[in-house]
Amino acid sequence: MVSKMGALEHSKINEKTEMPYYKPIGNEVELFERAFRHQLPVLIKGPTGCGKTRFVTYMAAQLNRPLYTVACHDDLTAADLVGRHLIGHESTYWSDGPLTRAVRDGAICYLDEVVEARKDTTVVLHPLTDDRRILPIERTNERLQAPPEFMLVVSYNPGYQNLLKGMKPSTRQRFVALRFNYPTPSVEQEILIGETDIDENLAQRLVNLTNALRQLKDHDIEEAASTRLLIYAATLIKHGFDPVEACRAALVEPLTDDMETVEALMEVVLATFGTRQQITEKINPK
Ligand code: ADP
Repeated sequence: MVSKMGALEHSKINEKTEMPYYKPIGNEVELFERAFRHQLPVLIKGPTGCGKTRFVTYMAAQLNRPLYTVACHDDLTAADLVGRHLIGHESTYWSDGPLTRAVRDGAICYLDEVVEARKDTTVVLHPLTDDRRILPIERTNERLQAPPEFMLVVSYNPGYQNLLKGMKPSTRQRFVALRFNYPTPSVEQEILIGETDIDENLAQRLVNLTNALRQLKDHDIEEAASTRLLIYAATLIKHGFDPVEACRAALVEPLTDDMETVEALMEVVLATFGTRQQITEKINPK
């Protein structure tokens, strides 16, 4: 009964926010629009930092719907999504969770990394994701009928999955699914320029470097460098930080704790951005 709402990370963006920058990769914009129009829930799968959240934010703005985003984690309960009774001054009162609010507002509800949430959490999604489109709230004895504008979007990263955390077929078969991946080099270059305003030459070198790093599969790297990290590197360099050190901080250290792997990745970085002095120091350490 007692609130844990403070612990729940969710945010609402409303329709008055300006249009976020999003560079379409394939037919995802049209597919999402059609899913919205026909009241179909959408599942987006793809590696971390490849643009899933930005895409949903952009689509919410395009469709002029408020967006409720919930970052799912393994403590997330059904009550965190639906709502709970809170203790007030004199009595308890009901407080909607983000899913309930999204249904009432005819909003888009985006559950990021949905496979992290506890299994009982996904059960509350079932009656909302078939043609009934209802949200039963046991505690208040309500049965909310979702308006046509309500849309449920979930995402997960297939790379993190393990047998226990995979999404059950009975849940996943309720969604239209979109697969995201890192963009092609020319598109990623455009995104990099769009996001950080760096010059074309630097963007090209950074994208080539990131793709070279992504090829290094034999090392202790769980997941390749994301577009998000590439943007961090570009931001540091644009504002005057040494390119080699910017790449170390943004494109190498976040990927691994293993020193040998760091060294191997840094060789690729030095080959692209190293000054003569940095390369000499590497060959003949003091
Ligand atoms: P995730 O897939 O983890 O949700 P995000 O949507 O947060 O990733 O993407 C990380 C960052 O990459 C975004 O903040 C944005 O700067 C950039 N990005 C990735 N793809 C695109 C794209 N197609 N258009 C514009 N920005 C993008």
